[in-house]
Parts: sequence; structure tokens; C-alpha cells
Amino acid sequence: MPELPEVETVKRGLTPAMEGTRITKLELRRGDLRFPFPDAFADRVSGRTIVSLGRRAKYLLVDLDDGNTLISHLGMSGSFRIEEGRIEEGRIEEGAVSAAPGEFHHVRSKDEKHDHVVFHLEGASGPRRVVYNDPRRFGFMDMVGRADLAAHPFFRDLGPEPTGNELGAAYLAERFRDKAQPLKSALLDQKNIAGLGNIYVCEALWRAHLSPIRAASTLVTAGGRPKAQLDLLVASIRDVIADAIAAGGSSLRDHIQTDGSLGYFQHSFSVYDRESQACRTPGCGGTVARIVQAGRSTFYCATCQK
Ligand SMILES: [Zn+2]
Repeated sequence: MPELPEVETVKRGLTPAMEGTRITKLELRRGDLRFPFPDAFADRVSGRTIVSLGRRAKYLLVDLDDGNTLISHLGMSGSFRIEEGRIEEGRIEEGAVSAAPGEFHHVRSKDEKHDHVVFHLEGASGPRRVVYNDPRRFGFMDMVGRADLAAHPFFRDLGPEPTGNELGAAYLAERFRDKAQPLKSALLDQKNIAGLGNIYVCEALWRAHLSPIRAASTLVTAGGRPKAQLDLLVASIRDVIADAIAAGGSSLRDHIQTDGSLGYFQHSFSVYDRESQACRTPGCGGTVARIVQAGRSTFYCATCQK
């Protein structure tokens, strides 16, 4: 599943191809993804100019010149690819450039039968297409007036971005002070922090040397102030997300298993998916363990994460 850094990478990859272009046609090749498309979706989007691209949590936001924002979520297997070159009768001519933004991450299908949405764009450098492909169709798209975005059910309960200035130790101390729930669960709660997923919670806790099973409230003083450990955790969250964005996603690369099913190939995580391997904390000597919390795998080192 694409996590926040992947979505940010996709946004950065799509921005130069989409921003400022006119959507000559939005082509929907089916009536729904995970959910039905909004009413008259193609008609409302076709003819509009794309003002800018943004991201909130794991949602891509495409701002249109009529004040609406198109919302796109990649689900489990959604991806975009950019096609440009000479387009004739709807086909991209041989030799045309095709690029999928984000050299990383969850599996991308190359199979055109999973191309469900096509943005036909007209920009300064000519026509191009941005194609949304999603074999499992857990992704979805919606549209909302920009002024109503914050109140939309997807967004209204979301906490601050993990890399935003709003996320500070004092804020989390307020959220965690009475929470007996495990620290990992508190960090996965999107009301506390938006867009932080399983992989990066494990990585941030490892960096901060904090156990995923300790109560969230143990990082807060009796007076409600953040302990130094909470300051360190906030810094670790920022760093782990920033590093992943810089690396172009979570270092998950496209990988299709030999039987053709979708799988994940991953490397370079410090603790995630490293069960029974040596902890990478210098001088620790511990071993990474896997436990299950709330149905999700947690990877951590009981020797250096307290
Ligand atoms: Zn360790």
C-alpha cells in the first residue's frame, strides 16, 4: 500500500506534467473504482484547467480553475503514468515518452486493461495523457469545492501532517496525556497524525528508541508537558518521512512475483520487515522481533527500544 512518502513522490512527479494544463477530456472507462465516481464527473472535469496539485495525508489533490478540487486516493495498487508524444486516434505513437512518477514503491501494473481513468491534457508542449491504473480498484476519486475540503468526511478528523509545523511535542502531549493505548496505536491514529502508516511508525519508533507497546501517556509528564522522549519521537517522525520522500518513496520497488501476482520487494528499512535480523542501532546487539498489534505487524528491538 502506498504510504505518505509515495503519494508525495507521485504528486511531485505529476506536477510538471499536469499543472497549468487544460483537461480536454476526462475519460472514465468504468463507472466506479472502490466507490462510484461522483455524478457527472467526466463532464464537470472536462474543459477545466489544472491550477495546482497538492497532497493531504495520503490523498492527492488536483485544484481546478472552477474552484473544485479533484481528490484521488491510490488505495492498494493505484498508480499514474504519464504519456506524451504524438497522439493519433487516441493512441500514443511509438517512441512516445511514458513515465510513471516515483521510482519506488508499491507494484504498478503495466496492463492496459487496468487503465480506468485517462486525463487527456493540452499543455504548452502539446497533448499528453495521464493514466490512472489500478488492478485491485481499492483506489477512489471524488470531487469537492475547495472551500469545503477541510469539512469533507475524508479530511475533517485528520490530525496535522507528520512533516508540518503543527506537529510538535506539545501538541502530541495534549493528545497522549490520558492515553493508555500502546504508543504504536496512538501514532497510527489518523486523528493524532495524518498519513502516518505502519512502516513509518515502526521506523520512527526504532529511531527514537521507544517501545511500540508502552502506553502513549508515558511520554507526557504529570503536568501534561512533553518528556524529552516525545521531543525525540517528533524529530524521528519528521526525519523518517523526510528521508523517505528524499529517497523517492519507501524504497519499495516495482516487483511482480513469478506467478504474476502482486508483491512487495523492499530494502533499506532499518527495522520494518527485518524479523530475526540484527538490530542496526550501533552497539545494541539486539535482534528485531515481530509482534502483532491491532492486527498489524510491528517490528522492533526490545533491547534498545524501551
Ligand atoms: Zn536494538
